[in-house]
Amino acid sequence: MSPGPRTRPQAPPAKHSFDYDLFTLGGGSAGVRAARYSAGMGAKVALCELPRDFISSEDRGGTGGTCVLRGCVPKKLMAIAGLFNEEMQDAVGYGWKLNGRPTFDFQDMQRNKRRELERLSDIYRKNLEKAEVDFIEGRGRLLDKNTVEVNGQQYKAKNILVATGSYPIKAPIEGSEHGITSDEVLNLEQLPEKLVIVGAGYIGCEQACIYNNYGSEVHLIVRQDLPLNGFDIEARKFVLEQYKLRGIKYHGLSSPSKITKESNGKLTVTVDPYKREGDSFSLDNVDQILFATGRKPRTKDIGLEDVGVKFDDKGKLEVDEHSRSNVDNIYAIGDVSTKIPLTPVARMEGTQFALHMFGGKEDAKPDYKSVPSVVFSSPQLAYVGLHEETAVEEVGDVDIYSSVSTPMKNSLGRDGIKELVKVVVSAKDDKVLGFHMVGSEASEIMQGFAAALYVGITKQQLDATVGIHPSSAEEFVCLAKPTRQYRGGKLTEGEEP
Ligand SMILES: Cc1cc2nc3c(=O)[nH]c(=O)nc-3n(C[C@H](O)[C@H](O)[C@H](O)COP(=O)(O)OP(=O)(O)OC[C@H]3O[C@@H](n4cnc5c(N)ncnc54)[C@H](O)[C@@H]3O)c2cc1C
Repeated sequence: MSPGPRTRPQAPPAKHSFDYDLFTLGGGSAGVRAARYSAGMGAKVALCELPRDFISSEDRGGTGGTCVLRGCVPKKLMAIAGLFNEEMQDAVGYGWKLNGRPTFDFQDMQRNKRRELERLSDIYRKNLEKAEVDFIEGRGRLLDKNTVEVNGQQYKAKNILVATGSYPIKAPIEGSEHGITSDEVLNLEQLPEKLVIVGAGYIGCEQACIYNNYGSEVHLIVRQDLPLNGFDIEARKFVLEQYKLRGIKYHGLSSPSKITKESNGKLTVTVDPYKREGDSFSLDNVDQILFATGRKPRTKDIGLEDVGVKFDDKGKLEVDEHSRSNVDNIYAIGDVSTKIPLTPVARMEGTQFALHMFGGKEDAKPDYKSVPSVVFSSPQLAYVGLHEETAVEEVGDVDIYSSVSTPMKNSLGRDGIKELVKVVVSAKDDKVLGFHMVGSEASEIMQGFAAALYVGITKQQLDATVGIHPSSAEEFVCLAKPTRQYRGGKLTEGEEP
């Protein structure tokens, strides 16, 4: 859907006492979508956003926000840069002679990437102008529930939308000031020979694979035994084996306790066992240590407490199903409030907000059913729906269909590369509850299965679907027998994953 003309009749006209129907703080995925669509539906809208920088702070940001400047887009471009290394290794088995060692110019890649990000960020700003949203560059702060101050200028708005996103945080350990966050790891000037990453959520795992593919020695330090807490356990085990096969050094059940800067500028990281017996050890000659240890909503000092807005225990704005906070004219969308911090979710919340407020659709609200999620690592891990453990807990009678195979490319390419496809099915009504995949094309494949899950596909319908041959995706429609079965929440057939 694209925003309609500015003069649609549904929108209530701005009351003369207000400068705007809507004032949006933050021009990332969420804020820009909501502002453009609201303006398209006839509302008078302003949006403020901080001046552009690749490293975020309380006073630096840029249109496009995290996704464009410090998240999805830069990391995917960097992941693509790394995949050429894998492709070249596979190419040898197909007869390609690389004639000497190909070289990678990291700085060249960074330069080209930044140029592209600036282009995209400019497009976001131009799109606001096209939609006739008043763009104000600067830091917005609420003076009261209807007044926003930017650069000393006050604006009166009937409704306020907080879309200020989130920022990365470091674990509070001795010497953490020597470490970097995802903002900086996407913007390094020099390729680190040795990189230590603390935390194996999706950001940590993606960066581990990116730099591993660039030839850095990568260590991943994780408190849990498996990476990617919150994903399906079988997929987590499987993807970890694939990371190790590619050369990532994984330190599970471990936690860094100290970082020391040596006289030669290199770092030494002391690592302790976590919730297990064992000795501490040191990683030395480290060039960079990345803290991939979470993010916090950006809500500091923007006047929200003063107007009585409530926060949850994670510091996010508490909102109802229409994104409204406890203060009746203050709304919040995107990472600052959502339970699912992903760009398409931020956009969906923006669209539904606009429809609810100005599009004449009072009932419009975000639909969080079937939100797919992807780790853009090597290999990728993608899923939609329920994990095996959650399905067993919630539904009880569950059939699991899974298959491990060698992708066709690797029949002649690198050894040991495998893919996993998995379908979680409710045994009572044959409904598919979840799709999971670990493989190089998992992100592209999962979008279609997300649509199938959304409309409630059954296993029988999946089996009746004709495959695409030869492809990895066809494995999903060729899963004849259950790998294991649960009845009443207990494993009755097959082995634990
Ligand atoms: C490394 C990384 C990789 C990611 N990869 C993916 C991915 O592959 N797929 C995916 O779907 N999601 C991904 N995400 C998550 C995605 O980027 C976010 O969910 C999304 O950008 C959230 O959008 P938002 O508009 O809520 O917040 P943001 O994009 O952070 O936008 C908030 C904006 O508000 C501005 N701002 C803050 N305070 C003020 C103020 N007081 N006044 C004015 N402006 C202000 C900020 O400068 C910022 O531009 C990734 C995130 C990271 C960090």
